[in-house]
Amino acid sequence: MHPALAADFAQLDTLLAATRAAAISHLSSLDTHPAGRATPPRMAHDLPAKGAGARSALSEFQERFASSLTGSAGPRYWGFVTGGSTPAALIGDWLASAYDQNAAGKTEPATVAIEHEAIAMLRQLLGLSEAHLGLFVSGATLSNVVGLAIARQWVGAQLGVDVAIQGVGALPPTPVLSGTAHASISKALSIIGLGRGALQSVPALPGRECVDVAALEQRLAALAGRPAIVVANAGTVNTGDFDDLQAISALRERYAFWLHADAAFGAFAACSSAHASLVAGLDAADSVCVDAHKWLNVPYDSAMQFTRHRALQAQVFQNSAAYLGALGDDPDALHLTPENSRRWRALPAWFTLKAYGAAGYRDIVERCCALARELGSRIEGSSVFELLAPVRLNVVCFTLAGEASTERVADLLTRLREGGEVFLTPTVYAGRPAIRAAFSNWRTTGADVARAWSALLQAAHAPSSTTP
Ligand SMILES: *Cc1c(COP(=O)(O)O)cnc(C)c1O
Repeated sequence: MHPALAADFAQLDTLLAATRAAAISHLSSLDTHPAGRATPPRMAHDLPAKGAGARSALSEFQERFASSLTGSAGPRYWGFVTGGSTPAALIGDWLASAYDQNAAGKTEPATVAIEHEAIAMLRQLLGLSEAHLGLFVSGATLSNVVGLAIARQWVGAQLGVDVAIQGVGALPPTPVLSGTAHASISKALSIIGLGRGALQSVPALPGRECVDVAALEQRLAALAGRPAIVVANAGTVNTGDFDDLQAISALRERYAFWLHADAAFGAFAACSSAHASLVAGLDAADSVCVDAHKWLNVPYDSAMQFTRHRALQAQVFQNSAAYLGALGDDPDALHLTPENSRRWRALPAWFTLKAYGAAGYRDIVERCCALARELGSRIEGSSVFELLAPVRLNVVCFTLAGEASTERVADLLTRLREGGEVFLTPTVYAGRPAIRAAFSNWRTTGADVARAWSALLQAAHAPSSTTP
């Protein structure tokens, strides 16, 4: 055995204690650690000829990278839609690495049991019925890929084509209709061969991001019976808007389409009785995408893919090889998702759901929404900023008052990032350069909103580097 490897194995206990200390030091500094960082770390690409052991690698990592790490796990990282990791989720994630099980199927029965339990708890948390079978994938993008690949198989079945065997070339162009789809939907369509061009955008209601259901119906009627895919958006990233899922699914009485719901973070509205009506009807979708590394607050990378059509799913993803065994009635995960070997992603989710339950998630969701509303009302009451959309859930979409050019917004965001108090990301909403703040970290409190607000006011008043 390589001497460094043997030595590390002999002192694993001390090494893991040092690792734990490094983790605790980062996590306990997040209240003061810069939320975002602008400076990339210094790079060193050489492969060590001998290797100096894990202790040395840990020191080098801390020396060279610690000061470049963002506070993305912390309470004032409001860019994109970013969750942190609850204590229990972190425990589960560490153990997933330590046990290092291949969660591909029944050869590792404990991984299957934990995944079933985690999925069952998530169904209850999110108001999905048992007809939805679920599995973990790496993120909402992959969840959308899987859902749309099953949809593609369904479309083929309506036309007498087995796409899994014959390929997408055997299909006529498939219309995919959506209001305000997330960018990952286009990416997913490119991956699965339907093509980005298949996505047809349907108008939203005036001043909203939710689809105009009457316009959607017209589009469906114009297809004259051709099978289609409808992507419903339950929580848009710009403004946290929701399609009317019940009205969309009612259209299935008259038109043939697969309903895929992208509820990456919006599904968590179901945790709070005050917001649950936003996702009423989610269960009726044929496939549902829900992220876990956002509002569930488990570490990257993790999401869930739910569907009512497991037989179609197995047609798409089955991995037939003699040594992998027969598919059977309850196919292993390796026959149902893009992966073959698989990280035990269900474990962190299982830990956090067991640890905090429905009440814990109600608290996280309601607190995030209340803080988003608080930021929204500070913006509404200020002359410096302008709120661009009502705060429906956990996303605040706003801009600088007056003519906010892309440069002014970019400048403001740079100053904020350099200040380190809060990290926000830009967008364009209704043709206007804008800023988004998304609340999805379990640690965020009112004190963080107050700190971020001071930083926002200060950054807005600071002299701009691009305007005289
Ligand atoms: C974040 C998000 C995605 C993509 O999720 P990843 O986990 O980053 O792949 C897709 N749809 C919506 C609505 C999202 O918010």
